[in-house]
Amino acid sequence: MDLMLFGPPGAGKGTQAKFLIDLLQIPQISTGDMMRAERKSGSDLGKRFDEYMSAGKLGPDGLVIELMEKRLTQPDAKNGAIFDGYPRTVAQAKALDALLAKLGRKVDRVVSMEISLDTIVDRVVGRRVCTRCGQTYHVRYTPPPQNGICVSCGEQSIEQRKDDSEDVVRKRFEEYEANTAPVLEYYGAKGLVKRVDAVGSLEEITDRIKAAIGVTSRSA
Ligand code: AMP
Repeated sequence: MDLMLFGPPGAGKGTQAKFLIDLLQIPQISTGDMMRAERKSGSDLGKRFDEYMSAGKLGPDGLVIELMEKRLTQPDAKNGAIFDGYPRTVAQAKALDALLAKLGRKVDRVVSMEISLDTIVDRVVGRRVCTRCGQTYHVRYTPPPQNGICVSCGEQSIEQRKDDSEDVVRKRFEEYEANTAPVLEYYGAKGLVKRVDAVGSLEEITDRIKAAIGVTSRSA
């Protein structure tokens, strides 16, 4: 299955993708995670990405599409993928459709995670992330352990993401409305979009996504 989790930054796409990996037995592909990894490596490409990410702006389509092409042709993604934070522009959506078509596949379902800007600001500014394994926490709702050790990977590497400040969140939301929201219309016209309320407990939201994609068990 090729499943797209769609929604503004802070809608919980990454968190929900992590639950779905196990259920669907396909990898999560997050261009944001790939760009952060590139930035961390200190490469020239990473430095270019940093300029955009720190300002809450989208990276250039050409570079992001290239990253996706490399990732999607790796063996673990041969049976499908959970796209998290990609595509973010109609040009990226068209490039993804073309790439999947070459692989004899297509986007099967787009789940749009619906949430207001105020809720996002609260979520994102309180978010903490393990820089090693990507496990997310929230200072009030799911606080990281006091000893700072990640419950998932056992490393002491829980941090606030550089682009999770209120200013940058608002800027990212503006980018979303201007450039990314049209992607939903693009897939809506193909009849692929299911909308889910992205406010509630993690389990409730997972259940809504499972219902939207018609999956109830591991055998999906
Ligand atoms: P995310 O972790 O998905 O919220 O992405 C964090 C930041 O990485 C975004 O604010 C963008 O600067 C950049 N980014 C991630 N995915 C994309 C994409 N598909 N196209 C352009 N920029 C992206």
